[in-house]
Amino acid sequence: MSEFSKELDVEQKRIKGENIRINYSDKKFYECFFNEYHFAENSAQRLSRDAEFVYVQHKKKLRAMEIEMAESVSPMPLSEVSGSSFSDEKYVRKRLTQPFYRRVKFRKKSGKSFERRQSIFTDANVIYPRANSIADNEKFPCPNCGKTAGLKQLEQGCEACGEETYITGLFPKVKGFFYRKNNSISIRDIGKTLLVCCIIGMIMGIPFGISEFIKNVSGRFTQNTFSDAVASAFTAPLEWIMIGVVAAVLVLLVRLIYDNIKNTSLIFETNEAKKKIVQTVTEQEKTFCFDDFEAKVISLLKLVIFTNEDEREQLVCCQLKNPVRKFEIADCLYMGYMKLADIHTDYNLCSISLDIYTEDICVKEKKFYVKNNVFRITVEKRLSEMNDTGFELCNSTCPLCYEHFNSLENPHCTFCDAEYNPIENDWVVTDVKMK
Ligand SMILES: [Zn+2]
Ligand SMILES: [Zn+2]
Repeated sequence: MSEFSKELDVEQKRIKGENIRINYSDKKFYECFFNEYHFAENSAQRLSRDAEFVYVQHKKKLRAMEIEMAESVSPMPLSEVSGSSFSDEKYVRKRLTQPFYRRVKFRKKSGKSFERRQSIFTDANVIYPRANSIADNEKFPCPNCGKTAGLKQLEQGCEACGEETYITGLFPKVKGFFYRKNNSISIRDIGKTLLVCCIIGMIMGIPFGISEFIKNVSGRFTQNTFSDAVASAFTAPLEWIMIGVVAAVLVLLVRLIYDNIKNTSLIFETNEAKKKIVQTVTEQEKTFCFDDFEAKVISLLKLVIFTNEDEREQLVCCQLKNPVRKFEIADCLYMGYMKLADIHTDYNLCSISLDIYTEDICVKEKKFYVKNNVFRITVEKRLSEMNDTGFELCNSTCPLCYEHFNSLENPHCTFCDAEYNPIENDWVVTDVKMK
């Protein structure tokens, strides 16, 4: 390894946290979570309530739009779970990723159905505490009913539902979960291009074959020339199939170069954004983890897309300064690209504006169509050295009476009615615009 590549490697680790090989238990956990998430009646208990909320809102939005959705996801053959890890004094955080093949189908009650097949990555941000870092009286939401209680109380049985929960039932927890578009050309794409080019080649070869056949047959009619004519009739389409193969290779090559040019600047912008955000935020918040931030921003964006104006007012994490219109979007896929538009900190209030690139399934009257969108989203948070990485909105602490309550849908403390502003603990969305 050269000096330069070593330097790059160090830089990369600094940005992304510490890269490690994913061990057997991480892999098992990821698979177990993924099965639970996709194949259980309810969404996975391992998914934190904050992350789950986005999926609940998505389902609600589809129902309101009178759209039914069915989804199937299967891991790419021979693909492995990969990941990176990042830790602070209290928690270990991991990003686990695997490429998947996704088939999603939508049907409007009074209209057409729409199917989309895509190659994606599934990113799960996992969090678990370091050994002995959780005190007995620390409060968590009951995984069964959501009522917050001290760890000791949960072990003895939740006051509301009676369910006994141990620390192994609370962690590891998926704090953020999202799909990300796989932008590389897949084997399926290659196969499809080859097939299409070959079929076009064959169709183009048929007239040549027929004309060749007629030319030969209309000559002297002997047994010999007839079989010659048949042979020459088949040679032309075969030759054209070969031309089709060559054309397919050329098409793929051009696409590869085109994608490369198109994506290179976006990859560059994304890395620049990462670098700048990490640099600025860690100045005041040592426990900042970019993977968590990215998942949070995607969640907040989806939350705004999937909720209507009147509902947004009820969400403490949506403190929109400008009116945001209703989006007729049935599905939103993060492309993995972002561009930093602005970042500034006033004292310790940090405001970040990002352009997020998505591939969306939009609905217009009865029709579905795919569109690439760019959303400019602004998020804010008061940075603090004492930041709690395990914080969840469903387990907020009231600043007045110190009771724990679920602030996901309730902007007031359920015990003393004090107004609650999560900006002190978590990222809050203050603006969203479709560019
Ligand atoms: Zn309970
Ligand atoms: Zn209170």
